[in-house]
Amino acid sequence: MTASSPDNLISLPITQSLEIARQEYRYNYSHIPPLAMVDELPPGEKFSTSWYFLLAQQLRMIFVNTLITNRGNRGSKSVRDDVKLFILEALFKGAIPLNISIIARLLQIIPQFLIKGISKDFHELDDLFFSILKDNGVQILRDTLNRVIEMLYEGQPTGHVTNLTEYEKLFPIIGVPAIAKTFQEDEVFAYMRVAGYNPVMIERVTSTSDRFPVTDEHYQAVMGSDDSLQAAGEEGRLYLADYGIFAGALNGTHPKAQKYVYAPLALFAVPKGSSPDRLLRPIAIQCGQTPGPDYPIITPNSGKYTWLFAKTIVQIADANFHEPVTHLARTHLFVGAFVMATYRQLPGTHPLSLLLRPHFVGTLAINDAAQRILIARGGGVDRLLSSTIDNSRVLAVKGLQSYGFNGAMLPKQFEQRGVGDRNLLPVYPYRDDALLVWDAIHQWVADYLKLYYPTDKEIQNDAALQSWAAEVQAYEGGRISEFGEDGRIQTREYLVDAVTLIIFTASAQHAAVNFPQKDLMGYAGSTPLAGYLPASTLQGEVTEEDYFNLLSPLDQSQRQYNLLALLGSVYFNKLGEYPQGYFTDARVKPFLQGFQENLQQVENTINQRNLNRPPYEYLLPSKIPQSINI
Ligand code: MN
Repeated sequence: MTASSPDNLISLPITQSLEIARQEYRYNYSHIPPLAMVDELPPGEKFSTSWYFLLAQQLRMIFVNTLITNRGNRGSKSVRDDVKLFILEALFKGAIPLNISIIARLLQIIPQFLIKGISKDFHELDDLFFSILKDNGVQILRDTLNRVIEMLYEGQPTGHVTNLTEYEKLFPIIGVPAIAKTFQEDEVFAYMRVAGYNPVMIERVTSTSDRFPVTDEHYQAVMGSDDSLQAAGEEGRLYLADYGIFAGALNGTHPKAQKYVYAPLALFAVPKGSSPDRLLRPIAIQCGQTPGPDYPIITPNSGKYTWLFAKTIVQIADANFHEPVTHLARTHLFVGAFVMATYRQLPGTHPLSLLLRPHFVGTLAINDAAQRILIARGGGVDRLLSSTIDNSRVLAVKGLQSYGFNGAMLPKQFEQRGVGDRNLLPVYPYRDDALLVWDAIHQWVADYLKLYYPTDKEIQNDAALQSWAAEVQAYEGGRISEFGEDGRIQTREYLVDAVTLIIFTASAQHAAVNFPQKDLMGYAGSTPLAGYLPASTLQGEVTEEDYFNLLSPLDQSQRQYNLLALLGSVYFNKLGEYPQGYFTDARVKPFLQGFQENLQQVENTINQRNLNRPPYEYLLPSKIPQSINI
């Protein structure tokens, strides 16, 4: 710990600590230009030991699974022997360098399991990965880990599948994700829009307009002849997912194949009636923004593989929207701007700083790792997603710049997309659960801030708070668009909403879009991160082989699972759990207790809801971390 780590800032004199903070938390606008990020990670922002240990545990699971897929049955008697042989080979080949800083740890760990053997759950490997990750920090992620990974991927299965069951061989230890069994069902495809990994796309429409000329014939083939497209539009039962952001986007090729990005439109409808369990149904898909022979309208009756092909293109577009826009830009980078302004402008003893900081733990560290490793040339995004790396970065920039702060208030978002009315769109688990968590956070923030700002006057007169608000939006600050009331914060009502949005995004919103990565996006048969055939394939008859050739080849699919399973399985801290004795003001205690009780209530309500709908568990408060750290 250095003298200027966040924990210690509290005890320093106010001016001194802010001066130090401003030196350490310097803005950079060229990591993902022109977004505001931290230039270099301050020492106090580095991941903690316990975080590394959690990561090591998840890495161990993925490592063993991959090892057995790629090297299993090479004459060894058991999985445990395979693991031992691999470690020995890595040592002999020098892939694991015996440098001074980790040699002591390795000498303790490796002989243990080489001599004594490895337990059934391979927990000994946790120490090994922990040593590699923690002792050498980030550099080792580039060197040692890269060499081990290279070795690990030798002999991996390659090529397009000729049968979906071929994907199953990628999960010998972990087991095939459950989505593999259900994703082809239309109901599941539609449910992804309201309870999936990117549940923020659909908008209510009155008609599909000329650019997506769906006919009554198309509509009635799905919904029956006693319903019509016009009636559905008039009654608020039509919903559109529009991936127009990808029009003109560049197709990627890394590492060694032509990939395709698509800009589809997908139409969904809610059946007539008043039953509260009416599920959304897919009506038609057009795999480009312009109607006509280039992009024919595809429906469930277009033929099995044609329809599957079109649905998969929507899944691919959805995943390509999810990662750079919904996930990276609108949670990670959005919150990152507030971390910077908070440390630079609010003294550690400031009540707002105290409230926010637990929700910022690990955020700059994961964002820094993301820009260096993940959304970098040759990194996971470049390799796996559809677009070129430059284009993926542009999508992240567009995603954040188009996300005006005041329009991002959760209830407003639902209103703007026309999906706020439960009578019109009865089954929308993300909406319903997110609003519960939003309300709980809102109540807590309101109770807390009222202690320090009895009236709006105190807010208007708080110079530090106003500097914070100015910096959040400034060109030489966080560059968050549409923040504040005429640029300042005038009322407690606004401050409560704003702080609720920051905490909600750092906790619940991130959880809702981060953790489905493992269960819903890891299995490439259902959601390849890139397409490998053009949308023009749909102009002719689509064969089974075409469908398989659209999906990710096995080597890419394995890497997709490994990356997304890792990102989707680290639960480091928990919403509402502040460190013991963190708030020293005794008046806070009853409100904090109230918050925790409310979260328990939300937990119970969601569990209850899940008895009457296909389960949606990503917004259970017990599964929502306190901050973005993975
Ligand atoms: Mn994340």
